[in-house]
Amino acid sequence: MLTPQSIIAVIGSGTMGAGIAQVAAQAGHPVKIYDIQPDAAVRAIDGIATALSARVAKGKLTESEKNAVVNRLTAAQELNELADAALVIEAAAEQIDIKQAIFRDLATVCSAETIFASNTSSISITAIASGVPHPQRVAGLHFFNPAPVMKLVEVVSGLETAPAVLESLTSLALRWGKQPVRCHSTPGFIVNRVARPFYSEAWRALEEQIAPAGVIDAALRDCGGFPMGPLALTDLIGQDVNFAVTCSVFNGFWQERRFLPSLIQQELVLGKRLGKKTGQGVYRWPINEELPYLAALPASAGAQLIERHGRAGWLNNSNFGDSVTDSWLQLDEVRVEVTQGETATQLAKRLNCPVVLIDLINNWQSSPLVVLAAAAGNTPEQTAKAIHFFQQQGKQVLEIRDYPGLLVWRTVAMLANEAADALQKGVASEQDIDTAMRLGVNYPRGPLAWGAELGWQNVLRLLENLQQHYGEERYRPTSLLRQRTLLETQHEH
Ligand code: NAD
Repeated sequence: MLTPQSIIAVIGSGTMGAGIAQVAAQAGHPVKIYDIQPDAAVRAIDGIATALSARVAKGKLTESEKNAVVNRLTAAQELNELADAALVIEAAAEQIDIKQAIFRDLATVCSAETIFASNTSSISITAIASGVPHPQRVAGLHFFNPAPVMKLVEVVSGLETAPAVLESLTSLALRWGKQPVRCHSTPGFIVNRVARPFYSEAWRALEEQIAPAGVIDAALRDCGGFPMGPLALTDLIGQDVNFAVTCSVFNGFWQERRFLPSLIQQELVLGKRLGKKTGQGVYRWPINEELPYLAALPASAGAQLIERHGRAGWLNNSNFGDSVTDSWLQLDEVRVEVTQGETATQLAKRLNCPVVLIDLINNWQSSPLVVLAAAAGNTPEQTAKAIHFFQQQGKQVLEIRDYPGLLVWRTVAMLANEAADALQKGVASEQDIDTAMRLGVNYPRGPLAWGAELGWQNVLRLLENLQQHYGEERYRPTSLLRQRTLLETQHEH
């Protein structure tokens, strides 16, 4: 049993170790920090003291509270000093042999009851536990960076992990003010697996030269409601770090094609364009990009609104019905609708009329932007009719090349598909998958709730269109997603 008085040991005093030690000390535990580099633990404690002083200066903490937290932190010079720890959280280098050696050494020092948790982001907990005496006490406790700020903690079970250990870690995370989610040890756990399409679809759009990076990011941010565009986010995380996670998930799944790493990203890594930390990645930092918004069109570019179909907000500038699918409007001869995964040109051929497609918008009223693509056969005047319509509704408009599923819709469909795959394979519960994505990477909605709101049949149609377009397994709808569409049909009848 872990109590608020239990001694917590943290191994490794880098970015994560220091953050985790701070969280534990703030929750009232005596915390011992050990690092293989002499003085690193002392430096980490100094760093925590400085960070807390900044909070005191802002009036968020009193001086005496700060001192109490700092006084609970001690630097251990030897592993032997950790003998009385009830829980050890390892945040050392991301190498299996290092992690196994640490726990094997600790097993000779600590009692058989001491819980061993690893903050690994990519190594199998089962593999770490194997060879450690009493492997049932080994689990994953995966914090997000910065640990004192990010709410989410993934509590990860390996094959041998005892249920009581998972219970203890889950209650502890709650007491520390965190939101724990439970998952099994599979590549990427929840967040690093389900988030892959957020990045990979953006790299693909860049590779296929659909739009400049700034436009791709603006679409996901301003239409999708994500806090930051995917490409800017990889620059912030570091191209090397983000690429390594993608490669690790790709290889962890026996080179499953839908996790295929991007050649463009590899080039950035090889060229040491690592993003914000080197001053250049996808962008030159600080980012200062002018977006190519279309100039406001005169009234003469407008068209008569002949027909509206559906209840979506984008049709009538209302807030109801963020559900945008199956809604279209007719502006003179031009059909305007939200993409369903066909290109505008394909749809124009099928309907035998000019077509403009728009991308998915998470919240019509709060989105400042509409992203659209025109069929190849449209005249500029025909496309202008749609552009004028959205400008009249107070939106900025960006035009991208004709592309199946556009930018936001295909990304959201792929996220929902990956989340459904993880759910079907028992990686975590539906609620925990959605919570993990909302709190671990701040998505505006959990991908499973999002898929249900958009309609699983619509997600399926989009993915099938993408799969047909590319002939690639990458877009194959997962089996659970197909099953959910059948349930929707039953509800309707
Ligand atoms: P870091 O490089 O900032 O710190 C690692 C620290 O561990 C260093 O101070 C190093 O001296 C120490 N160390 C290395 N080998 C050791 C050993 N044998 N014994 C004791 N100390 C040792 O790394 P980090 O970013 O803090 O990552 C630590 C762990 O957390 C890794 O497993 C990483 O995958 C995981 N993680 C990182 C992040 C992140 O965003 N940085 C997020 C979640 C999880």
